[in-house]
Amino acid sequence: MVEVHKVSGAAYDGNVYLILDDRPILVDAGMMAGPTLKNIKKYIDPSKIEMILLTHCHHDHSGAAAELKEATGARILLSEKEVTCVGDDLTTVAYLFGMEAPQFQVDETLSEGRILDIGKWKLEVLETPGHSQGSICLYEKTEKVLFSGDTVFPDGNIGRTDMYGGDTIKLIKSIERLTSLDVKTMYPGHMEITSRDVNRQIQMSLRFAKSVL
Ligand SMILES: [Zn+2]
Repeated sequence: MVEVHKVSGAAYDGNVYLILDDRPILVDAGMMAGPTLKNIKKYIDPSKIEMILLTHCHHDHSGAAAELKEATGARILLSEKEVTCVGDDLTTVAYLFGMEAPQFQVDETLSEGRILDIGKWKLEVLETPGHSQGSICLYEKTEKVLFSGDTVFPDGNIGRTDMYGGDTIKLIKSIERLTSLDVKTMYPGHMEITSRDVNRQIQMSLRFAKSVL
């Protein structure tokens, strides 16, 4: 069975997920590498991690990518639409955290329809712009698992669209698309993991997004 562990440890950090499949990966990096690495070590030798998939470039998801790459040797993957954001305080919104965006090398870019075969799980890349211009979600069809980044959160919550690259109309379209999926478990970029009637929760997010337009 594929295990997923939330390994982020610092307050205000985005959620970092460790997926233990044949090829272990991280979904997002958070902004504080220290506590995350400590948590990773509870489950696996960090050097076994092959990829760090970033759901988007925002600092609370990507700020520790360079340090985690250094510690693990993993390759960094980010949407082709956000490669130019790396190292930019405005587009990564690092300035909102009073921080500077570190430079790092993106090893591979992600785009719509790409399937990442990590063993038992095949993670499909869905482009879901709105919270940021190149936000992605990852969907595992067989297990009905969704890594939703900052596009949707549990209990009908939605990603902010009031930062650089945000677009509410695009967000609504992206969430509409997510409502066409069958999701059993959602791993959001913030808040808690949920398996409780997830399709309904995403429907609520859609209604909410439409109401704030
Ligand atoms: Zn974000």
